[in-house]
Amino acid sequence: MPNVYNWHLGREMNYAFEEAHPNQQFAAVFNINRCIGCQTCTGACKATWTFSKGQEYMWWNNVETKPYGSYPQHWDIKLLQKLDAAHTDAGVASRWDGASQSEAAPYGVYDGLTISEAGGPNEQALGYLPEDKEWRAPNFYEDTSTSYKGGQLGLSPEGASLPEHQAWFFYLMRICNHCTYPACAAACPRKAIYKRPEDGIVLIDQARCRGYRKCVEQCPYKKSMYRGTTGVSEKCVGCYPRVEASDPMSEGVPMETRCMAVCPGKIRLNGLVDIDENGDWVNQPDHPLYFLVREEKIALPLYPQFGTEPNIYYIPPRWAPRAYLHQMFGPGVEHAIERYTAPSRRLLAVLQLFRTTQKMLFRFEIEEGPLVQAGEMGGQGWELYNDTVIGFDRDGKEAVRISVLEPFIERSRERPNSI
Ligand code: SF4
Ligand code: SF4
Ligand code: SF4
Repeated sequence: MPNVYNWHLGREMNYAFEEAHPNQQFAAVFNINRCIGCQTCTGACKATWTFSKGQEYMWWNNVETKPYGSYPQHWDIKLLQKLDAAHTDAGVASRWDGASQSEAAPYGVYDGLTISEAGGPNEQALGYLPEDKEWRAPNFYEDTSTSYKGGQLGLSPEGASLPEHQAWFFYLMRICNHCTYPACAAACPRKAIYKRPEDGIVLIDQARCRGYRKCVEQCPYKKSMYRGTTGVSEKCVGCYPRVEASDPMSEGVPMETRCMAVCPGKIRLNGLVDIDENGDWVNQPDHPLYFLVREEKIALPLYPQFGTEPNIYYIPPRWAPRAYLHQMFGPGVEHAIERYTAPSRRLLAVLQLFRTTQKMLFRFEIEEGPLVQAGEMGGQGWELYNDTVIGFDRDGKEAVRISVLEPFIERSRERPNSI
């Protein structure tokens, strides 16, 4: 198998195809701290793409309640157990070498096996095919928290307090990661799955697919799904007409996808990042996604150890146990939570951009405002400034302008409330 460079792992790894990269990559940041579990994203995707016969159990976007919830049921626990067994069989430890951190390896170096490296002799990657019943609901164990182990009636005498709540859950919102090294594409014997050179969106050619379900088996995130009525597999299409700016609402510039645009929790920011010939993100410190992922490093990939280099990034929940988060998002968790808890002046401004426009933002500028408050946050000195952040679309036109503090507008006496 060819060797490719995976910057999430900070090292080269085996992959089915030679290194090849798109000019731009579809990517997003999801802020778990703000999700209210309303499933508006899930409904928007279903109403747009999966409302037909045979798609009843198909949720390209789903929001699951961690640690117990999952769609399909137990997808991550099952794969983590398989990966663990592969490490034991190979006599290899699954660990991150944090001392080897660098620009090319921002999370250090992963010394364990990826799903591709742990695959058996007749498979491209470690995987499994879920049973039909495991797909039957998009959020098993909705809102089920862990229990507090001590105290009467399972109640903690201290209540819930940071840094880690003793009883906890959080929502994990998931779509296809439009991976840099998609396991689904590597697995397909028909070569029916391809990654678009213009935006890195991963699609299944419906005419080539014969429904062998190898992609369903080997996508570690279980985001390729089989449709019994047509006998072919389907997956999230990254709402490509909106990304291509062919949607009539778009005014000729790329728009965020349906699941991103509807989010009432304002947790999602979607865009396209420039990619160089080596597959690295081009240095663009004033691109909102580059700033959040590469500069501030507050948003992290989901299960980076799987080795597909997923392109959806998560701001981890502040209240969940760090060991659990470390397993899920890798070694950048402590740093991400620390930065998010006491955001820098620039970060606080950029966080305001989430869900302020349907247009994808390619650049931001900040106009400095006055100091509003000074105090302490997370044990550190912290200052709040009422800066204004301006977001620009692909053509460099201003798409949004918003201040850190929401303006307070008092209705005049001449215009009383009419109800
Ligand atoms: S998340 Fe799964 S379906 Fe999506 S690109 Fe990655 S491997 Fe393929
Ligand atoms: S990007 Fe589009 S197709 Fe993909 S999950 Fe979101 S709404 Fe569905
Ligand atoms: S629409 Fe937004 S807030 Fe609601 S469940 Fe989806 S990601 Fe969470």
